[in-house]
Amino acid sequence: MTAETYKSLLFYAPKDIRLEDVLVPEIGDNEVLVRIKAATTCGTDKKTYERGHPVLIKSVPSPFGHEMAGMVEKTGKDVTTVAIGDRVVVANSAPCLDCFYCRKQKPNLCENLFFLNGAFAELILVPQAIVEHNLHKIPDSLSFDEAALSEPLACVIHAAKQMGIIAGETVAVIGTGPMAFLFIEVVRHLGGKSIIVGRNEERLRLARDFGAETINSTTEDVAAAIKSKTGGHGADVAIEAVGQPATWQQAVSLVRKGGRVCLYGGAPRGTSFLLDTYRVHYEEITVSGIFHHTPKIFKTAVEWLSQGKIRTKEFISEKRTLADVASVLSGQDKTESLKFVIHP
Ligand SMILES: [Zn+2]
Ligand SMILES: [Zn+2]
Repeated sequence: MTAETYKSLLFYAPKDIRLEDVLVPEIGDNEVLVRIKAATTCGTDKKTYERGHPVLIKSVPSPFGHEMAGMVEKTGKDVTTVAIGDRVVVANSAPCLDCFYCRKQKPNLCENLFFLNGAFAELILVPQAIVEHNLHKIPDSLSFDEAALSEPLACVIHAAKQMGIIAGETVAVIGTGPMAFLFIEVVRHLGGKSIIVGRNEERLRLARDFGAETINSTTEDVAAAIKSKTGGHGADVAIEAVGQPATWQQAVSLVRKGGRVCLYGGAPRGTSFLLDTYRVHYEEITVSGIFHHTPKIFKTAVEWLSQGKIRTKEFISEKRTLADVASVLSGQDKTESLKFVIHP
């Protein structure tokens, strides 16, 4: 008798990922087995490929990838929320809803936050916590490719809501990665406008296509350019979506008095940056770190995608297979794209 297997891309070490046949797991009474139809690559995958990840990858070899959508293949006998054949988005985490932070309404900071890896595979076993709190059905009108964007979009909506962005506000975003483009979409949806700050002229051109204003930080004085675009005041909100202390510091210089600064890009552990005390005290700026998403926001992300509120085509135009993930994450595949969709 040969046991059933499926293909899964496993992370062994930085720059060492291997496509292997692994055994289809036994399914628990409260678990769901999902056949993955689309997964998307992101900056976190790239960072993980290059240097590992202290939170996402706890032991090796580890399943890899965290943005995914697919179809329910099998359900445990006690599962009532989804059925075989349902089209779903699997969130990459679920809070316990019972710890100190969950009780303080901060489920994204849950002490028992469980992370699910394994989007780059043919199948994924979804554990009970995610089945119960963070497995979302999607309508037939939403493609799997688009649905896989729910995770990064949830992170961006979470940040935008935490920052209290409202109609009429100007949001400066530092960075030209996929997250910056999702910010353009979310800010527009909230009635604000974005100014994208970056160095990559091709990406800045794309940002203008998305309806944002842009500033090239290699040729312009960014703080002065933001002032001239905001009646001399500065942006209402600045978002750092790069993950470097230097740009964290720059973000603080871009807001008006009373403005809010969102440090969205995670910088390497052990790094720090200087914060101007005058700005914080006499100019009442607020500086916040924002991390991850919550089940409620994840649901909102799925809804916004389902309702066509987010422009998606530039995120999902490049399709690849599991065998291509290494060349995509290593940069050997030089195709210019915000993200790559992996079809197992
Ligand atoms: Zn991601
Ligand atoms: Zn918790």
